[in-house]
Formats: sequence, structure tokens, C-alpha cells
Amino acid sequence: MTRRRWLADLAWLPGQGVRRDVLIEADGDRFTSVTPASAPATTSAPPVTSAPSDIIRLRGLTLPGFANAHSHAFHRALRSTTQAGRGTFWTWRERMYDVAARLDPDSYHRLARATFAEMALAGISCVGEFHYLHHQPGGHPYADPNAMGRALVQAAADAGLRITLLDTCYLSGGLAEEGLLPLAGTQLRFGDGDAVRWAARATELGCDPHGMIAPHAQAGAAIHSVRAVPRGQMHPVVAWAHRFGAPLHVHMSEQRAENEVCQVVYGMSPTRLLYEEDVLGPRTTVVHATHVDDGDLELLSGGQTFACLCPTTERDLGDGLAPARALAAAGCPLTLGSDSHAVVDILEEARGVEYAERLARQARGHFTAEALLRAASTDGHTSLGWPDAGEIAPGARADLVSVSLDSVRTAGAADGVALEAAVFAATAADVTDVVISGRDVVRDGVHLLVPDVPGELSRSIRAVLG
Ligand SMILES: [Zn+2]
Repeated sequence: MTRRRWLADLAWLPGQGVRRDVLIEADGDRFTSVTPASAPATTSAPPVTSAPSDIIRLRGLTLPGFANAHSHAFHRALRSTTQAGRGTFWTWRERMYDVAARLDPDSYHRLARATFAEMALAGISCVGEFHYLHHQPGGHPYADPNAMGRALVQAAADAGLRITLLDTCYLSGGLAEEGLLPLAGTQLRFGDGDAVRWAARATELGCDPHGMIAPHAQAGAAIHSVRAVPRGQMHPVVAWAHRFGAPLHVHMSEQRAENEVCQVVYGMSPTRLLYEEDVLGPRTTVVHATHVDDGDLELLSGGQTFACLCPTTERDLGDGLAPARALAAAGCPLTLGSDSHAVVDILEEARGVEYAERLARQARGHFTAEALLRAASTDGHTSLGWPDAGEIAPGARADLVSVSLDSVRTAGAADGVALEAAVFAATAADVTDVVISGRDVVRDGVHLLVPDVPGELSRSIRAVLG
């Protein structure tokens, strides 16, 4: 085990707010002690004034690692290209299918490694990868039916991140008034036939009884949406998640059209359908929850289902504004995701939640910077099955993200508003240093494992766009 020590100019500590001159120690992948300058020294912590050479100085504000609770890594290739001309959610989806059609395990590994490296540069220590690109074009399995999933797990290791591989059940090509449509075209790559075969393949990935695939990787399950999984096929996915103690994620009510057709086919909203099929609960995350009404909120109330908001994607796709405050008031812990990677910046997602609420209600002050950071850290990690991450506290996983407070965007912020400066003024470009599970991944804005992230993004995207 490697002992490490850092001295943070400012650090955000659970229950204490922002403290100055915080000595943080770790052994291997866990923090062992956290000591602010003004606190009584613990037996294990040397006096801060000694500042031996093995102590790494972290300037600016140091936060726990960010969790990106909703990602589709291959969507990174669509950035900018889908902004040319006009289009709808559905034409965007056609472009997305074009990229999906071209990927194989090698090209996906390169694209995901570059995308995850971009995430690490933005302070993301853990990604929830909502993965449905399982099979070869046409739907035939690869020799290893989990070759694509393994490519993602390896890509996360290469980029220094932890990953929860949310292996996604995707069985239908859509929901129309006449019922569920068969998979067609590119979608054939997504399907396992039925949920029992999905579960068999997901099990073959080889996680242990606690759902761990590797020290940095955890297995999770996903139901793509009520559009892609028939009602009668949901139970095997829920049962699989229960068996492995795995997180369960599902897209829910991203577009009004989904609600309308669900009403016609099932006579109820997507929220009620998922509620009746026992999909909701404290292990589950509903992604988007954009178009939920009071009845839906009532069903969610008290169930501790996580709600993952992806404000930069939702505004990019013209989805609408999720009722963030009402979801939080219903007891849904909020989490954040960069989803389609229109940008990769969890700070932008965090303030996006508050700003959307301000626009919807024409009033300010719904979420504090601290509440938004909890969504980005503690609650995000818990929703991905890592409840021991997301806090700078003894025993927690040793993840640190330092945000510059003297960049052109953040300069001038007093210590007392450091959290507000990070959430409302800083961007991913202000992240200087990132430690993940006790290991330096980013130092002075440079990724230590993937030296040329822009170059790798450029090459891997050109390879799939042709
Ligand atoms: Zn998504």
C-alpha cells in the first residue's frame, strides 16, 4: 500500500463546509485522516507547519471526485456534427445510430478511452456507462458476447477512472400506438432477444457475488426505457440487479412523445409502469424524469429513487425542464450526467439544474452550491453503487479534485464563497489536479496516463465518422 499526503489550501469537508490548510492522508485507495489546520491534530497527523517534501500541495479548492452518473461514451463522436443545420431529437438519434453502426471492440475501446480521459480532466472519478451496443452489426454476438462491455471496462482502467457498467437490456425498436416495434437496422446490435438471455450474457461478464468485475469496475443493470423493454420483460432485469446488489438505471419520460404513447399502449405513464413492475426504489436511478406530473411525483415520493438530470443534453436535445425541486422534495436524491457529451463538465451540469429551475419559476435560489455538489459527488457515487466514495473523509475512497481559484473565470472569489465560485463560475478547464482511488491521474491540467487527450479524441472520432 502506498501512503500519500496532500495539503489543500481549501477543501470542502462533510459537515464542516470549506476549511483552510487541510492535511489529507491516504493509504492505498482510502483516506486515513483529514485534518484542517484549526482542528486539534490527530495522533496520525503531523503538524501542518512541518510541510515535509512528500506532501503534495493542492492549490485552489479541493473537492471530492465527481460522479458522471449517465454516459453513453460513443455519443462523444457526435459533438458539433449534430449542431450543423437543424434537426429534432429523432434526426439526432439517426446520426447517433450511424456512429453506433460503425463501432467494433477496438475502435470503441479507443473512443471510450479518449472520452473517459476527457472526463478525468474534468474531475470525474467514476462514470456510469449506460451500455447497449452489445453485438455485431445485424445482431450476431461477438466470439466473446461481452467484447464491447469489456472494451469499456478496459478503457476506464486506461483512463484512470472507476466505472459502473450499466449493462442495458434493449429489446424493442420503439413504442407505437399499435404496440412495441421490432428492432431494426442498427438497433439489431442492441438486442439479446429477451430479458432472460440478456441476464445470461450480463452474468457471463463475470462479476463476483458483490457485483465487482475488477477493482475499478462494478456491474450494473439498465432497462433502456419503456420504449425498448416490454412490460413483461422488466422483471428478469430487476431480479438480476437484486441478485448482485447492482444499481439499476432506466431512461424515463425524456420526451413527451414517450409519455403519450405509453398512455395509449399501457394506459398509464412511464413512471406508473415502472412503479407497477417494481423497477423503482433506492437501488434505482431514473434518468431525465423530464415530463413527470404530480401523480408521478406521488409514486416516486418516499421511495428514495435517484433522479439523474443531464441539463446540458436535455437543453441540447430540446427535451424540456425536469422539475428538479419537486423531485428533490419527493425524496429523490439528484445526480448528474453528461449523457450525450454535448459538453463534458459536471460543474456546468450542476449549475444547469439551478438555472433551469430559475427559468421555469422566474425566481432564484432553489439549490445551494453545496446541494449541487452533493449531487455531483456523494449522491452520484451512491447511485452508481460506490457509497464509500464522494466525500473527503477517513475511510472513503481517496478521490480529490482541485479547482483553480485564480483563473480568469474564478479570480477574486473570497474563501467564504469558494464553493459558489466552483459551481457557478468555474468550468472543467479550471480543474488542475485529480486523484482517483489514491492515484494521481491529472497533475497541473495534464492527464498522466493519456498524454494527448485531444489527439486521441480527434483520431478515434475520425476513425468512426469516416
Ligand atoms: Zn441516455
